[in-house]
Amino acid sequence: MSRIETVPRSVAIIGGGMSGTLAAIRLIRQARTPLLIRLFDPNPELGRGVAYGTTDFSHRLNGPAKAFSLRPDDANHFADWLQARANRSGWRDFDDGLLAFAPRWLYGDYIRAELTEALNVAAPGVELEHVLARVDDIVQEHNRVRIKVDAHREFLADHVLLAPGVFKARPGFAVAQALHDDGRYLADPWNPEALDKLKNVEDVLLVGSSLTMIDAVVSLEARGYRGNYQVVSRRGLVPVGRSETQAWPEFLTDVAAPVSARAVLRAVRVQIARAKAAGEDWQRVVLAVRPHLTRLWQGASLVERQRFMRHVRAYWDMFLHRVPPPSAAVFEAVRASGRLHLHTGTPTAVQSSADGRLDVWVRLRGGSLETTLRSDAVINCTGFEYVWKRVSDQPLPARLLEKGYVRPSALGLGIDADPQTLAVIGIDGKASGNISTMGLPLRGVLFESGTIAELLRQAVLLAPLLDAAGQYVDKEERDAA
Ligand SMILES: Cc1cc2nc3c(=O)[nH]c(=O)nc-3n(C[C@H](O)[C@H](O)[C@H](O)COP(=O)(O)OP(=O)(O)OC[C@H]3O[C@@H](n4cnc5c(N)ncnc54)[C@H](O)[C@@H]3O)c2cc1C
Repeated sequence: MSRIETVPRSVAIIGGGMSGTLAAIRLIRQARTPLLIRLFDPNPELGRGVAYGTTDFSHRLNGPAKAFSLRPDDANHFADWLQARANRSGWRDFDDGLLAFAPRWLYGDYIRAELTEALNVAAPGVELEHVLARVDDIVQEHNRVRIKVDAHREFLADHVLLAPGVFKARPGFAVAQALHDDGRYLADPWNPEALDKLKNVEDVLLVGSSLTMIDAVVSLEARGYRGNYQVVSRRGLVPVGRSETQAWPEFLTDVAAPVSARAVLRAVRVQIARAKAAGEDWQRVVLAVRPHLTRLWQGASLVERQRFMRHVRAYWDMFLHRVPPPSAAVFEAVRASGRLHLHTGTPTAVQSSADGRLDVWVRLRGGSLETTLRSDAVINCTGFEYVWKRVSDQPLPARLLEKGYVRPSALGLGIDADPQTLAVIGIDGKASGNISTMGLPLRGVLFESGTIAELLRQAVLLAPLLDAAGQYVDKEERDAA
């Protein structure tokens, strides 16, 4: 006779970076009946992911402490936590209080503390299990999902949340394994030991000029590096330093969707010109655009979204995702010293030369001209891959696409999902009843999908759906899994 027992509903969260951990915190706080949450991540420290896993205290949050509370009802929660914690952590710059730009590592500590706190007050039977493994595949079985982590281990869940975060972009040029091995090519710009080895070289070449490049410069400077930087990027755009300022008066409230990227850009330009003419900080205008972006994005046609991605995105990223002031000060000092050289183009090859240095071929923007830059090391700061079928360093994205459980977003970035419920949309065009997603996989659907404020909003949106997932699982089946 089949042995049926009521055991807790179960939710599997794939990815224990900030997204997965926030969803777990929200769910634990909300659940009133037994619930088993399994968080899958090979990283032993939940809550960190890529952004909050850097141990370098010079890598700061890009906004002041007052903007990053994880408690919606207590805006100063993070700042208060930070103050109590700052001395013990060895970080001594808390003088700015609410305006402090905290090390990202400490923010990771804060997320982890919030998880512990949520577990401490969890309702009876609400449990969290961290499965220290990478999920390689999932299989739909009736109303449940089987999760495969390696050749031998499988788990069943009533609902799966995909929160795998960012995938590494391939550099776009071949790099000999020997250069990885001897530390002259760094695929991971946040690797402290690898950066230590570069502090006495003469020239470092950084591929990419976004915030990751700023992190690399700040880290090398903190290590006493005094050589030159060759920075190569497609457009040669460098993010701007953040100034603390109030949003410009609203000017997009009347812009109803559908709307063209060009019309919005024109409106923004007019306001920036006005701000400058009035002697005001133009960043105020960007702050006034931010609250409207999701609405405008969702109302825009596919063609307009494509136009935005082609012509505006790079500028938008540069203006919105600004550099925290402490990092901006370091970066500007390096620039002013003449040690940083910005090149607009695309690296095509890296090779070791006879004198032990590296030759980096760069195709210059707007033509077929190539130049060769000399360097002692190359650091890949190119950022992330949003197109799932190009992800090459792990099997899960390709398997989900193959099975049709997910499909690429119309724009091709990330995956398709219902923007209201965050349920993924499969190849059949239907919203899934038991697979949801949050964070960077929603880049195509929501555009701004990875900031802390956006992740908090998504965790709130998801919690009721996850909590309602399934009823009771068959214990035999779960034991067998
Ligand atoms: C360098 C950096 C700095 C940032 N700084 C800021 C900032 O200052 N302010 C701000 O608002 N936002 C910032 N962000 C944006 C945002 O906060 C982060 O992108 C956010 O932390 C994303 O978290 P995530 O969990 O979605 O992704 P990730 O951090 O990428 O974490 C995903 C996790 O999933 C795991 N995983 C992936 N695939 C699998 C699998 N198959 N099985 C099991 N586990 C898996 C990974 O091991 C990883 O731990 C920053 C982002 C980055 C990358």
